[in-house]
Amino acid sequence: MRGLMQEAPLNIPMIVRHAARYHRDKRVVTNTADGPVERSLGESIERSRRLAGALAKLGIGRGDRVATFCWNHHAHFETYIGAPSMGAVLHTLNIRLFADDLVYIVGHASDRVVIVDKSLWPVWEPVAARVNCVEHTIVVDDTGGEAPPSTLDYEALLAEATPLETWPELDEGAAAAMCYTSGTTGKPKGVVYSHRSQVLHTYAGLLADGVGLRESDTILPIVPLFHANSWGVPYECLMVGANLVMPGALMDPESLTRLLVEQRTTVAAGVPTIWQAMLEPLSKVQGGLGPLRSIICGGAALPISLQQAYHRRLGVRITQAWGMTETSPLGSVAWPREAHAGLDQERLDDILNSQGRAVPGVEIRLRDDHGEDVPHDGSSFGEIQVRGNWIAAAYYGEEPTEEKFADGWLRTGDVATIDPEGYIRIVDRTKDVIKSGGEWVSSVKLEGLIMGQPDVAEAAVIGLPHPQWDERPLACVVARAGAQVTKESILEHLEPQVAKWWLPEDVVLIDAVPKTSVGKFDKKALRERFGRYFETER
Ligand code: ADP
Repeated sequence: MRGLMQEAPLNIPMIVRHAARYHRDKRVVTNTADGPVERSLGESIERSRRLAGALAKLGIGRGDRVATFCWNHHAHFETYIGAPSMGAVLHTLNIRLFADDLVYIVGHASDRVVIVDKSLWPVWEPVAARVNCVEHTIVVDDTGGEAPPSTLDYEALLAEATPLETWPELDEGAAAAMCYTSGTTGKPKGVVYSHRSQVLHTYAGLLADGVGLRESDTILPIVPLFHANSWGVPYECLMVGANLVMPGALMDPESLTRLLVEQRTTVAAGVPTIWQAMLEPLSKVQGGLGPLRSIICGGAALPISLQQAYHRRLGVRITQAWGMTETSPLGSVAWPREAHAGLDQERLDDILNSQGRAVPGVEIRLRDDHGEDVPHDGSSFGEIQVRGNWIAAAYYGEEPTEEKFADGWLRTGDVATIDPEGYIRIVDRTKDVIKSGGEWVSSVKLEGLIMGQPDVAEAAVIGLPHPQWDERPLACVVARAGAQVTKESILEHLEPQVAKWWLPEDVVLIDAVPKTSVGKFDKKALRERFGRYFETER
């Protein structure tokens, strides 16, 4: 027997139509050097119709890739609405990648149009000179600067455009967006989101135990719109009508703090290094942080000391989420369960510092090196494998390999434990794992503990070849301004907390931990820098 319910394609126009009907008056804000600029959501949708009309006039149609090379701002958000809703494919480019990677990605995706910020023109120009698929370059005049006359001006284009009156009927399986993984191993890989996967991901993100946005919220995505769909924020705002506040190019901690407070932000989202950098400026805000009720943090492990500092000093919880570009990205979120109500603070902190439990719609299993299931007992670890309606089934232009997609499950390359309640704890990424004398050492755990030492600002732990133990951990530590850190003080801090063989073989002081294009610790760069450290005479 078949169900007798109506069926309509799950597509982005469905979300946009709802927003246009119910949330026109909501706020969309971009920070600029002259202060925040505000438009209504209704206006943003109208402008996205103009953009769609302009793109259509340029010959862009279904399936054509429209790339963005932009900060988080109005035009970028409008492209999130307009490009997929007209049937084109939004391709968000990471503005911090090296030119070689960008040239590869733009060519691989066959981008026909690129929307570029004028402030980023000097970064884009060398890429533009080396790609030949891009037919039209549209420049957003975000902070002045120069762009060549051969480019089109975003505002002029919108002003002249005939708005697209109705969005076309779109198949829910059609591509809506693309995002390339940053390619820390090998070439970047293209993840292609469908309309259906985007809609389902938006619903899941909106669950109270997901990101949990409501109409009454104001969200500040500090996470870039080019970093894994900005974790779903743009479409969540459209669906529920939350106000959207974007930082533009003003990404320094002081500007972000001012924006967060002045815009009466209720929810903010960003990677751990952002929250690390914002702790001091946020602590100095006179009169508290207003209605800020939730910070969502993902992309890398959140140090427990940072999470505790936000809770104790600022009264705000940082909620940890886990995911990846291939998972749209929402995979799991760490909320406490009803059963945790009476727990002491330490136990509760430990749960909140986990990577959380799977959001409904994502299935998670752990597998060992031999492809066997690993029990969810909180101590056995294996690779996280996931499947669900917003999980990649293949990369663009490639046959799915067994190495990455095992019998319909995505192999994440993250090693973790899962406890009987379902809470995931990431031990390491496969490529960062340290194996000392045949035993695993969790670099993530060590980093979290070292960053709990009050004199430490940042710490990254890497495994390096060792003549006796195969590999040993090296702790690369950045001291807080004005503080003194020594190898002894770090080891003393760690000794009561970890097994003896987990103690770093050495501690080196560095000025800053190198960061990847999305603000994560770049351990590959550290491994290259310290290379054969344990094998050479010091
Ligand atoms: P990149 O490869 O550039 O880091 P992604 O942003 O897709 O690209 O990164 C996904 C990876 O980030 C995950 O596989 C995982 O290793 C890491 N990650 C994401 N969220 C967390 C988290 N909360 N804790 C620890 N690691 C995380």
